[in-house]
Amino acid sequence: MVGQLSVTILRLGHRLHRDFRITTHCALVSRALGASGMIFSGDRDDDIIDGIEKVNLSWGGTFLIEYEKEWNKVLKGWKKRGACIVLATMYGINLPDVSERLRIEHKSRDLLLVVGSEKMPSEVFHGSDLNVAVANQPHSEVAAITLILDRIFSGDELKSKFEDSRLRIVPTDKGKVVEEV
Ligand code: SAM
Repeated sequence: MVGQLSVTILRLGHRLHRDFRITTHCALVSRALGASGMIFSGDRDDDIIDGIEKVNLSWGGTFLIEYEKEWNKVLKGWKKRGACIVLATMYGINLPDVSERLRIEHKSRDLLLVVGSEKMPSEVFHGSDLNVAVANQPHSEVAAITLILDRIFSGDELKSKFEDSRLRIVPTDKGKVVEEV
């Protein structure tokens, strides 16, 4: 987590087996790049939760991974608590034109960043405070999360410390050095 107010990802429409890898990658980039947690809806998938919890055990930090069947309930709950709902969609305002607003919002309230899968339910478009596009071209939820988090945290997320890890990488320009903590 970077700063005091949180950014949480809401990943919609997870499909068992078909989306295992991409939903896992949504969680991995969210964790690595400063988000506090990820909630996913669609099909329940305990393997995703187990996998990310194993990553937390080895690599530290407090990233929360949760399943919630009813994404609408999550959205309403976060809205009621005053969070800013940010929807990642290719139809939104292009990231360079909205980065400053995202940073201002993040200074005053928690953010819930919503990403879809194959289809985005149309109700989400009306429930969001801000629709953000990464280049107004179709691509991937993983890339959208990555770039949006980077703009919110202005690159500071790359220097995050992950407490209580079992393993730590010793950065090297050649080879692979991992030490047990
Ligand atoms: N055809 C799908 C649709 O109409 O929603 C595209 C789905 S895309 C594979 C999955 C998710 O990635 C989208 O729901 C959106 O959250 C995110 N995404 C894809 N391209 C994006 C872009 N250019 N900007 C922001 N988010 C994007």
